[in-house]
Amino acid sequence: MVLKSHYQVLSLTELGESIKTQRIPERAVVLTFDDGYVELLNLVKPLLEECQFPAVAFIVAGQLGDPFWWDMLENIIFSPERLPDILSLSQKGLQIEWSNSGKEDRRTRRSQDVNRERLLNTLYDQLRYINSIECNQLIQSLAVWANVNLQKIASITRSMNTEETLELVKGGYMEVGSHSLTHPWLTDLNSSDQIKEIKESKRFLEEILGQSVRHFSYPNGAVTEVIADQVRQAGFQTACTSAHDVIRKRSDLYQLPRFWVRDLNGQQFKRWLQMWD
Ligand SMILES: [Zn+2]
Repeated sequence: MVLKSHYQVLSLTELGESIKTQRIPERAVVLTFDDGYVELLNLVKPLLEECQFPAVAFIVAGQLGDPFWWDMLENIIFSPERLPDILSLSQKGLQIEWSNSGKEDRRTRRSQDVNRERLLNTLYDQLRYINSIECNQLIQSLAVWANVNLQKIASITRSMNTEETLELVKGGYMEVGSHSLTHPWLTDLNSSDQIKEIKESKRFLEEILGQSVRHFSYPNGAVTEVIADQVRQAGFQTACTSAHDVIRKRSDLYQLPRFWVRDLNGQQFKRWLQMWD
């Protein structure tokens, strides 16, 4: 509602056209959502329809319906009442040593949270750079270590499956874009794997949707000039980074910056928007 009264919400395609013609409307905003969580269908789609706002959902094409590794990791670390005292993991070139210092009881809950936070950050920093197959193997090992049943996580958080993705685009307010096949750091891949992530994700989503997939979002915002050019050559019209900036007449269509919105309530979001007043 705040957006409705103050801003003109464009589709990403309209924004792309307005950059090409160098006529970006005043106070224009584009809404994009990365990763394709199932909440997009349950929570976001009804709101977009109510406000008649267009938006793009960038989907990880090769992981439809699955939970993401970073959510599984968080669940493994924080859901058990107790974690084993020691983690000593040496696998696929990764070396992780962690000890659960202090007793896990109510009095030390705060220090345990800090301790678990430290473990989460250590693991996240290592897992984010390995390929999706190795990453999933490590997640499985960690789940066994922490005695966490990964099957249950899908009921807490996951991406949309094929049917839900098809449901999302019904009504025409939500458009699907690609967020790669497996959400890697594209900058870490060789050229043929980069092209595969970009082209295959487009082809796969187009096959499911029966319509053109026109926009791309770089996983983790990782992009180079070469990767941006691969996205252009694959036939996308625009691509979004995670750089925080506004869009200008001369913005690169294949490296569009965005502002990431934290988890805010309505009042906080209103204040956040006032940054541009
Ligand atoms: Zn992402």
